[in-house]
Amino acid sequence: MSLRTLSDIKLPVDKSEKELFVLASKKLGKKPAYFAIKKKSLDARDKDNLRFVYTVEFSDTPVKKEEIPLEKLPAGKVPQKPVLVVGSGPAGLFCALRLLERGIRPIVIERGAPVEERERKIDTFIATGALDENTNVQFGEGGAGTFSDGKLNTQTHSKWNKEVLQTFVRFGAPEEILWLNKPHIGSDNLKKVVKNMREYIVKEGGQVRFHTRLEDIRIQNGELVSATVNGESVEVSALVLAVGHSARDTFEKLLARGVKASQKDFAVGVRIEHLQEKISFAQYGKNYPLLPAADYKLVSHADERAVFTFCMCPGGFVMPATSEKEGVVTNGMSNYARDGVNANSALIAQVSRADFNSDSPLAGIEFQRKIERSAFTAGGGNYCAPVQRVEDFLAGKTSDKFGSVRATYGAGTRFCDLRAVLPDGVTTALKKAIADMDSRMKGFADGDALLTGAETRTSSPLRIERDETLQSPTATGLYPCGEGAGYAGGITSAATDGLRVAEAIFARFYEK
Ligand SMILES: Cc1cc2nc3c(=O)[nH]c(=O)nc-3n(C[C@H](O)[C@H](O)[C@H](O)COP(=O)(O)OP(=O)(O)OC[C@H]3O[C@@H](n4cnc5c(N)ncnc54)[C@H](O)[C@@H]3O)c2cc1C
Repeated sequence: MSLRTLSDIKLPVDKSEKELFVLASKKLGKKPAYFAIKKKSLDARDKDNLRFVYTVEFSDTPVKKEEIPLEKLPAGKVPQKPVLVVGSGPAGLFCALRLLERGIRPIVIERGAPVEERERKIDTFIATGALDENTNVQFGEGGAGTFSDGKLNTQTHSKWNKEVLQTFVRFGAPEEILWLNKPHIGSDNLKKVVKNMREYIVKEGGQVRFHTRLEDIRIQNGELVSATVNGESVEVSALVLAVGHSARDTFEKLLARGVKASQKDFAVGVRIEHLQEKISFAQYGKNYPLLPAADYKLVSHADERAVFTFCMCPGGFVMPATSEKEGVVTNGMSNYARDGVNANSALIAQVSRADFNSDSPLAGIEFQRKIERSAFTAGGGNYCAPVQRVEDFLAGKTSDKFGSVRATYGAGTRFCDLRAVLPDGVTTALKKAIADMDSRMKGFADGDALLTGAETRTSSPLRIERDETLQSPTATGLYPCGEGAGYAGGITSAATDGLRVAEAIFARFYEK
């Protein structure tokens, strides 16, 4: 079997994908026995001639792809005490899946609820303001990304990126994520995928325990010996700390126990919403019914503080994403169809040690919390979010009505001046960036575009140190993992970090 690739096949966007095979066969001078799309991207540079560009794989003989199973840990080397995976986000789930493949049966503990119950609790929070601090948009089965757009593109070049996509497909994600250059699953699909993963872990002999929180750890002579879980002490042979960037109580406890951590830069700002049809028009030149809702990614250096758009959700909704009482936090999600009226994106400015006024590794958390509380107050103290039209933000006045863009933040909004929420330096940088970004994407500074505050949970504000064996240098057996520990910045990179940590645990016991 010899698999070959053919690249740069261009298909006008109004043509059916069925024509791809015809086009490729023409180029090859014959019909291949095996044919599959490997990559698909949109070339929108020439607005009068938008085309999809494909790379395909083909072979003259039929192809049967066989998977070689990974070597399992010999029975005599399997650890006797539990390997505890804390957190069921992408880092924890992919770590657990790989541990099972390697012959280690993990116990996954998750402070929040399973996904069905989680969905109900989030709906209740949106409707009534009754926040469950263990089950919300940050916490619960599937982690922070469950109520997201499920974008899977990553800046990292991990050797496991492809495997992560294949695994998502294996558990129910749309197959096209394997070849689209900007793959996304959609929140509706993600909920099914994480549930399928959980059921598989249990079927294969692992455990998944919900409403189960890591409360404390005990380190003896530089080694992690036990964990306190829902008030009970459990001896462990390894603990994967995949708690996400919002597990503030867990970070505080671990640091108090001597786990080494340091500050990390992150970014804060607002969510910006536009009419999706205007974004699609700006990106495509006209509205093509067959094209997906357009996205964008913008960076501005108009101020000394870099500003960028992040986690852009075409046809999406702004989500109430706090996990703490008396805080208002925004984030964004879309369903697979991305068919909402508005496009939203984080618009955030870089912040660092100079902004925190403290050397404590926890200083970034305090900085976030202060902004989240200001947003809560500005929103009226009932989890409504403060909003302002872009025109009014630039003029420094409180809005008194929506223009063409209405808020999608489900928990309610209140007009305010976002200067009351954000630090001055951030406000200044955002103002300059809006004008600057408009010069690159017409309409970004549309006066009716809507800003909702506050976007603070963009990445972890600290890094839990780990050495070359991926263990904490102050607690052997403790494996900081994923976004919360500072080693990932999204779903895919968190998942690959989960795989990396599982392999490190396997190697440790294999060599023992
Ligand atoms: C609304 C929203 C939209 C997003 N959209 C995207 C997107 O489209 N694409 C993308 O790449 N990224 C997106 N992100 C970011 C992405 O979700 C995260 O980068 C990713 O989930 C990090 O994975 P993780 O496994 O490291 O941590 P998390 O997913 O945060 O998972 C951590 C888990 O640990 C649990 N936990 C915390 N503390 C404890 C404890 N003490 N005991 C037991 N369990 C605990 C939490 O409940 C949580 O379930 C989005 C985030 C949000 C909130």
